[in-house]
Amino acid sequence: QDTLAVSVRVAPLGAHLVLVLVEDRTEARRVDEVRRDFVANVSHELKTPVGALSLLAEAVLSASDDPDAVRRFAGRMSKEAHRLTNLVQDLIDLSRVQGDDPLAKAVPVDLAEVVAAARERVAEVAEARQIELVATGPEHTRVLGDLGQLTTAVGNLVENAVNYSPDRTKVVVSVRVEGDLAELSVTDQGVGIPDQDLNRIFERFYRVDPARSRVTGGTGLGLAIVKHIAATHGGDVSVWSVEGAGSTFTLRLPVAQVAPVSELEPTHSQ
Ligand code: ADP
Repeated sequence: QDTLAVSVRVAPLGAHLVLVLVEDRTEARRVDEVRRDFVANVSHELKTPVGALSLLAEAVLSASDDPDAVRRFAGRMSKEAHRLTNLVQDLIDLSRVQGDDPLAKAVPVDLAEVVAAARERVAEVAEARQIELVATGPEHTRVLGDLGQLTTAVGNLVENAVNYSPDRTKVVVSVRVEGDLAELSVTDQGVGIPDQDLNRIFERFYRVDPARSRVTGGTGLGLAIVKHIAATHGGDVSVWSVEGAGSTFTLRLPVAQVAPVSELEPTHSQ
């Protein structure tokens, strides 16, 4: 809705004078709505695993003389607890990246280090599912930013690539430099994303297939976090995908300008 929201305040200043204050509240109202939607979404997302956990706990109690059933219910409880942990972790990541300006205390960050840390995050799952993780690109490409945040962003992309790919496929993380920009791409041979969803997947809580995302423990926040981190680092993130064939997510970040060696050397006066 593009309706204008205004607040009008009138204060009498004297016999013939009044002060009229007109304030445009459109943006404030929009921010308010976004906040309310977010709280409603979070509550809904929390309610689902918490509800499932309490039902499963009751089921365990009433099946205490059937060890097989107890084991089954306990397994499902562990999955729901895992979902809850992911959600809380993503909410912490989101609030942290929204509160910080990474460029205020930016340091040169080596993308090879970021890629190595992101690979570490998925190494165990990838190995179990025989998904080959390949990293290519120029070594020691540096960008300015926050190592923790950049690792979160690349980790989320690599984690998605693994989660939305079948077993025995390949995920390639490549880095290249195009002019002033470092391009880090994560390519998978997974399920791909339908065209009509491509411009929505970066929204908070948007999922193409909620049922599938539930199985992988996804929260729908991962790409929103990546988008925020890319923007606050002066870059962006984009996606290219063919449904049923795979996806490529590309993070573009300004390369850190390192002073040429000659400028770092002390000058000698003759
Ligand atoms: P989630 O926690 O559900 O993975 P994200 O914000 O990371 O949430 O991603 C949003 C949605 O985008 C996912 O639910 C999934 O439908 C889709 N998606 C993200 N990455 C990929 C990928 N590499 N391949 C296919 N679909 C993807």
